[in-house]
Amino acid sequence: MQDLTAVEVKNPKPRKICWHNVVYLVASPLVAITLVPYYLYTQGFDWRIWVFTLVLGIATTVSITGGYHRLFAHRSYSARGWVRLFYLLFGGASFQGSILKWATDHRRHHRYVDTEKDPYNINQGFWYAHIGWLIVDDDPNYKDKFAQDLLDDKWVYLQHKYYLWFAFGVGVVFPTLVGYWMGSMLGGFAVGAALRLVLTNHSTFFINSLCHTLGRQPYSDEHSARDSFIMAFLAFGEGYHNFHHQFQSDYRNGIHWYDWDPTKWVVNILSYLGSAYNLKKISQATIVKAQVAMEERRLIREGVPAESIHPFRLKVEEAGKKWKTLREDYLAVKLEMRQNYLVRKAEMKEKYQEKLKNLKIEMKRSRREFKTAWQLWIAYARHARTLVRA
Ligand SMILES: [Zn+2]
Ligand SMILES: [Zn+2]
Repeated sequence: MQDLTAVEVKNPKPRKICWHNVVYLVASPLVAITLVPYYLYTQGFDWRIWVFTLVLGIATTVSITGGYHRLFAHRSYSARGWVRLFYLLFGGASFQGSILKWATDHRRHHRYVDTEKDPYNINQGFWYAHIGWLIVDDDPNYKDKFAQDLLDDKWVYLQHKYYLWFAFGVGVVFPTLVGYWMGSMLGGFAVGAALRLVLTNHSTFFINSLCHTLGRQPYSDEHSARDSFIMAFLAFGEGYHNFHHQFQSDYRNGIHWYDWDPTKWVVNILSYLGSAYNLKKISQATIVKAQVAMEERRLIREGVPAESIHPFRLKVEEAGKKWKTLREDYLAVKLEMRQNYLVRKAEMKEKYQEKLKNLKIEMKRSRREFKTAWQLWIAYARHARTLVRA
């Protein structure tokens, strides 16, 4: 991945109030809480406006979570032109700034998390991380300095240059016109634009505030990011933030099949359709290694002797490493087989297939060994904790 930051901060300078953001952040909820009841009172309930708002809300949220965040900020997968155009349009309609600005800020957040260089640093307070950072002007040291790979993307640059057209065009004019077509311009504006913007904006803002305050830290406590199912539910899977900060290049945030991560499901569907590819995934062995190391630190802090728990962790790590290496070998042979023109010859093909078959058997065996070592670790950790607490 390319360098994720724009520049290094030399001397932090005082920051001015960003008045247009203040006006937007104050006015949008006021408009929503006055116009929505007024619309319902004067024109009644029309389910079509609400269904349209829900669909637009999903489209704009996915464009932020799957587009701005996982595609443009983290490059955790690649996508075809139509998907990128969709994100460009509907992400713009979220009123969260251009991709160029959003993704550059976000990369800085990951790189400098919890420090003064982090644009939404939680150590400056919950409300600063939630909304306060938006009402002060950009840090002058970073202002108008963007990540080069994003600047080189002409569509991303175009969206940045004409951002207000994208934002008002798709975010306000479009829902108002759809409302007009459905019989209520006011309904389209109040529900489809104002109410949707307030709800989707704050669900994203909560990732920067709540997900750095409340929740579990299964993978690391070296940063403030936390996993929260409630936030995952509200923000399309983005709430597994402890995992995400630990493994930012993974296109998933919720890694288990039962985790609520609709953004991951959308990327999976796009991949199935051939519109997303090169989906990056951290191996299970690496994830478990972090999880076990974190739990070990916690157990030692609780009073479990390091020398009793350490051998169990090493066994998990060794077994995981072996499994991961075999899997990499298997994939390398498979790729070589696909690329090698000699494979067309029957005897070469057989040779490769034999090699792959053997590697697969070994891989399965080492996977079993890894799972056993992991189960043993879990059992011992539970036992040690009970002993210490007794
Ligand atoms: Zn974060
Ligand atoms: Zn991120």
